[in-house]
Amino acid sequence: MMARRKRGAGLIIAAISKPYTLLTVLVENASLQSHNSFGIEARTRYLAAVTAVDDLREALGDARVHGLPRLVIGGGSNLLLTRDFPGLVLLMQNRGIELLSEDAGAYRVRAAAGENWHGFVLHTLAQGWPGLENLSLIPGTVGGAPIQNIGAYGVEVESRIESLDAWDIAAGAVVTLEHAACRFAYRDSVFKHEGRERYIVLAVTFRLPKNAPVHAEYAELKAELAARGVQAPTPRDISEAVIAIRARKLPDPAVLGNAGSFFKNPVIDGEKLEALKVFYPGLVSYPQGEGRHKLAAGWLIDQAGWKGRSLGAAAVYDKQALVLVNRGGATGEEIATLARAIQADIRTRYAVELEPEPVWV
Ligand SMILES: Cc1cc2nc3c(=O)[nH]c(=O)nc-3n(C[C@H](O)[C@H](O)[C@H](O)COP(=O)(O)OP(=O)(O)OC[C@H]3O[C@@H](n4cnc5c(N)ncnc54)[C@H](O)[C@@H]3O)c2cc1C
Repeated sequence: MMARRKRGAGLIIAAISKPYTLLTVLVENASLQSHNSFGIEARTRYLAAVTAVDDLREALGDARVHGLPRLVIGGGSNLLLTRDFPGLVLLMQNRGIELLSEDAGAYRVRAAAGENWHGFVLHTLAQGWPGLENLSLIPGTVGGAPIQNIGAYGVEVESRIESLDAWDIAAGAVVTLEHAACRFAYRDSVFKHEGRERYIVLAVTFRLPKNAPVHAEYAELKAELAARGVQAPTPRDISEAVIAIRARKLPDPAVLGNAGSFFKNPVIDGEKLEALKVFYPGLVSYPQGEGRHKLAAGWLIDQAGWKGRSLGAAAVYDKQALVLVNRGGATGEEIATLARAIQADIRTRYAVELEPEPVWV
């Protein structure tokens, strides 16, 4: 059992596991509108809230859901629901944050999958545990963070993950996956591939280094810190600057439905980059090593004239071409159609393939 803590921001931490068993209630024909940040009205045949591993066992063991497809939802901030879901949605709502140990080099902290990600980041900073500050204000849950290896302002979450605990559907047991087994890559992990049907993340263990230098190299972050007169930023300074930048440039899903960046930044080889630069001298690219270059997907889409364009209630955000938004009442299929039109146009113009970041269901 985990210790109960209460800290300044009013975050109340409950236990990860329950000492008793409750009968899981499968809700039939449930709306998913408040469980996806696009705000799309899709329904699921069954929905079960998971507050502990016992809930999972019961929901998965219920005869009504045998043979049906499953979908795990945390905060629903990286999901595109293109249709009603004909199976069981497991809504991760287990809570708990625990300091496992502290040594000269780092704090080891475990957090339950259902914890709100940004609330967790603020909690670590309030405790004086550095390392997650660049990832402030990313929506979603702790359990959702490793799935696409969230990243922002020069830091990817995998650099702070030691291991994670997951329900292994094949084994019918809780297993611990060490960092290497998660096969993290740019916006990718084993949980987007063969692990997708197999693992349900229950908790993540972070190793937060005490003396690692802060990451303030990212140009936008540097400029924000300079504007605030901060010369030697602390992790809290970084967090505050990141929050300010994100609040300015990204739409709040509570106001305008969206899933953040809709496409990954494509990576191409040097030969192709040089060929493209002949036609597009202003092309934005970042060297990745081994002759590979990352292109800014937002720049490609913006240059192709998509900013602000719409298809029904689905639109390209007028301040940031990489974000697709639901202007109100859009269906998932409308957003998918807009996304496919952008992909086709980018393919024709630049011979570059744009891969969507959110998971399509
Ligand atoms: C405004 C905005 C800004 C964003 N900015 C960023 C950013 O800067 N960087 C970035 O990387 N992402 C960003 N995102 C995307 C998103 O917030 C992250 O990917 C987030 O980690 C998703 O977590 P979630 O709990 O909402 O996952 P969900 O959307 O609920 O699920 C996403 C996928 O993960 C799976 N999943 C979720 N929880 C679990 C679990 N416990 N076990 C197994 N599978 C699970 C789901 O089945 C699904 O396949 C942004 C999104 C928005 C709306």
